[in-house]
Amino acid sequence: MLGLMQDWPLLCHKILDHAATYHPKRSIVSRSVEGPIVATNYRDVRSRALRLAKRLDKDGIKLGDRVGTLAWNTWRHLEAWYGIMGVGAIYHTLNPRLFPEQIAEIVNHAEDRVMMTDLTFMPLLEKLAGKLPTIERYVVLTDAAHMPATKLKNAVPYEEWIGEVDDDFRWASFDENTAAGMCYTSGTTGGPKGVLYSHRSNVLHSMIAALPDAMGLSSRDVIMPVVPMFHANCWGIALTAPMTGAALVMPGAKLDGPSVYELLNEHKVSITAAVPTVWLMLLQHLEANKGELPYLERVIIGGSACPRAMIKAFQDSYDVQVIHAWGMTEMSPLGSLGSIKPEYAHLTGEAQLDIQVKQGHPPFGVEMKITDDAGREQPWDGKTFGRLKVRGPAIASSYFKGEGGQILDEHGFFDTGDVATLDEHGYMHITDRSKDVIKSGGEWISSIELENLAVGHPDVAEAAVIGVRHPKWDERPLLIIVPKKDRRIAKDDLLKFMEGKIAKWWMPDDVVFVNEIPHTATGKIQKITLREQFRDYRLPTAAE
Ligand code: AMP
Repeated sequence: MLGLMQDWPLLCHKILDHAATYHPKRSIVSRSVEGPIVATNYRDVRSRALRLAKRLDKDGIKLGDRVGTLAWNTWRHLEAWYGIMGVGAIYHTLNPRLFPEQIAEIVNHAEDRVMMTDLTFMPLLEKLAGKLPTIERYVVLTDAAHMPATKLKNAVPYEEWIGEVDDDFRWASFDENTAAGMCYTSGTTGGPKGVLYSHRSNVLHSMIAALPDAMGLSSRDVIMPVVPMFHANCWGIALTAPMTGAALVMPGAKLDGPSVYELLNEHKVSITAAVPTVWLMLLQHLEANKGELPYLERVIIGGSACPRAMIKAFQDSYDVQVIHAWGMTEMSPLGSLGSIKPEYAHLTGEAQLDIQVKQGHPPFGVEMKITDDAGREQPWDGKTFGRLKVRGPAIASSYFKGEGGQILDEHGFFDTGDVATLDEHGYMHITDRSKDVIKSGGEWISSIELENLAVGHPDVAEAAVIGVRHPKWDERPLLIIVPKKDRRIAKDDLLKFMEGKIAKWWMPDDVVFVNEIPHTATGKIQKITLREQFRDYRLPTAAE
């Protein structure tokens, strides 16, 4: 017997309708790419998104078409997402930090028909234009006054282009499982892999993200996504903020410490989110200028492991609660968040930090398990590592065009490629990427744990650990260090610093000092390049 409830499909544009109806005047403040701060609200953004949808419709963009965006976080980019989804087309965010050839490869793989771009990326697109045969039109997110001369095909300034029509348009209607958005993974191996979010998965993910033990967002919040809209679906914020009626502050192209600081205080931001490198810049700025954060209540930190010292600095020096989060593009992207459950509420100081450095517990809608290589489930004892596998309604079931083949196991779980522990209260702690974990004599060593330990040394700026071939143990850890500016570190001092803090057999077999460690387009350490670089490295212990 079926329930007798209304069939109200979960469509993303209903989120914007809701915001425009019940929170019409809630502010959306952006640092525009042209420079000035621009203030708008949900009612006006909806009206302009409707025009954009009508204009796309006039250009023949229809259900299932892909529209690329190469843009910073601004109100125009937000309008673009909703306008694109509102005709049943698919917003396809592109990460400008990728190599130009990768961008071209991804645009061609996705077969984007329109490219919406900020002024910033016009030179890049002009160089690539000959290699992007599927693009029929470039829409530059600016007005005629700021529009430079360009040879880009059918290029138009956004404001005049949407100005050609009014907002008398009805959102298209379709099944809730229709694709809404697309984001390629930052994977460094194989061909490009597109993750295709549906309207249903985006709406459910927004509800999940808003939950009190997740982002805990409400109409009383002012949220600033410093995390770009092109990184992992903007961690859901472009959808969760309007769903909850939270005010938005969009930082545009300037993500440096002083610029972020200015927006946080000027616009009374209560919650913000980004990767650790952004917060490192902010904390350095705060420290150098004796800054304060009187309005900020919570900061969500994820994308890579949040260092313990960062959690401590935010909480102890600035009275800002850190929520350490984990997720991935394939998960829309939230997988777990580190709010404190009652079981840990009695903890304070270092004991509380021991819990906060973990990546948190999954919200409703994310099922987790850890397994060994043979697929056997591992105990939730906070010690045993396993491959982390997940299942849920906002988690990918396959990649666009079937790249990578079958990605779920026989129980419908997706292997995240991360290695983790789970404790008795369901807190997950990432110990490594499965490709990066060091397999020494059949046992696993966490490269992340060694890196976190090494960066705790006062003279270390950055650390990476990779497994290097060893005749007896298969692999042993090699520690690669970038010292802080003008500091010298002796190898033995560093190893002595680490001694006693980890199992003896985890100690790196050697340390090398470099000027720079390579990073991916999303700011993660590029281990694949390091492994290549140190492929023939001979450890001093290899002769034993
Ligand atoms: P992406 O899809 O580019 O966001 O990358 C997802 C990957 O980033 C995950 O599979 C993890 O390896 C890593 N990651 C994300 N958040 C964290 C975190 N809080 N701690 C450690 N690794 C993380």
